[in-house]
Amino acid sequence: MNTSIEILENWNLKNSDRPIIIAGPCSAESEEQVISTGDKLHAVGVSIFRAGIWKPRTRPGCFEGVGSVGLDWMNTVKKRTGMLLTTEVANVKHVYQALKAGVDILWIGARTTASPFAVQEIAEALKGVNIPVMVKNPVNPDIDLWYGAIERLHNSGITKIAGLHRGFSGLSKSKFRNDPHWQLPIKLRQRIKNIPMFCDPSHIAGNKELIPDICQKAMDLNYAGLMIESHITPDKALSDAKQQLTPVQLSDLLNNLIIRDKKAKNTKVNESLEELRVKIDEFDDIIFEALSNRMEISKEIGIVKKENNINIIQATRWSNILKDALEKAQKNGLSKKFIINFYELVHQESINLQNEVLNRN
Ligand code: PEP
Ligand code: MN
Repeated sequence: MNTSIEILENWNLKNSDRPIIIAGPCSAESEEQVISTGDKLHAVGVSIFRAGIWKPRTRPGCFEGVGSVGLDWMNTVKKRTGMLLTTEVANVKHVYQALKAGVDILWIGARTTASPFAVQEIAEALKGVNIPVMVKNPVNPDIDLWYGAIERLHNSGITKIAGLHRGFSGLSKSKFRNDPHWQLPIKLRQRIKNIPMFCDPSHIAGNKELIPDICQKAMDLNYAGLMIESHITPDKALSDAKQQLTPVQLSDLLNNLIIRDKKAKNTKVNESLEELRVKIDEFDDIIFEALSNRMEISKEIGIVKKENNINIIQATRWSNILKDALEKAQKNGLSKKFIINFYELVHQESINLQNEVLNRN
């Protein structure tokens, strides 16, 4: 299937180069908490107030949200501050209740994006409504699921859709709660014309400390905005306590964000950037030629292995290549992690090519 999606309407939320800031607690917990968080966030320049009313928890027995009464509390925030409201919807009942309560923007959570039936039902419930919807990436690093969820909403006539990047869970240990895999939201933006991308650094980080760097990176990648969890007393939060910032901490973070220009104003700077890019392109040509030559040799090795009935994988040869590569990485000031990842890909491709040679009649 080859549909091409183009986001038709501009979100019109931005009147400056500053990012759109969405903030609020992971969960609405009490009327007092929601109202006082709303007041404090409005005072530090937040324009959209978030709160989870129905919480999709991985395991039962955790705090699962206050339910629709939270929508009344959020509406009080809107009346007091003028901030727009957003909440997560995971099924048709949530959609109807959120629409009835006048929520301005809906978001689809990571667990829901991973479930095509749920997204389809939500998309159908939204036919003829055309409310803005932010779609979180699915929990697993599968860009097609993310794209597919957006496609379902788009097919229902929703014209204001944004991506919401909250990171991906994985098996390997990482400093993040959910690995950002920045290349995936970048690819999504390439596939969907005009889609605004928001970053949710709170669920990527899983702790307060990593949040500022993630926000800065999102700004450097020209994201439209940030959705950051904020609670008046994070230590007492009923969900995601470790990753919520106080409104004051959030304000400090926003004041320290550097917003870079899309293009340098000075033509000299643009020219020298262009020159550097030309050099990069030349090196890319060299890399391509070298890779192609390397793979040709791999195939030749495959032929020798076939003629002599030898295994493709020669464990000592591979560990020697890796050892050498790591030494060269160190000497040349390249990161070891990058070189290991790179060589694993190159090695895998060599194995695939040799496999083809060995199994060809
Ligand atoms: C949330 O935003 O509080 C939430 C549950 O997020 P996610 O769907 O990213 O886990
Ligand atoms: Mn949360």
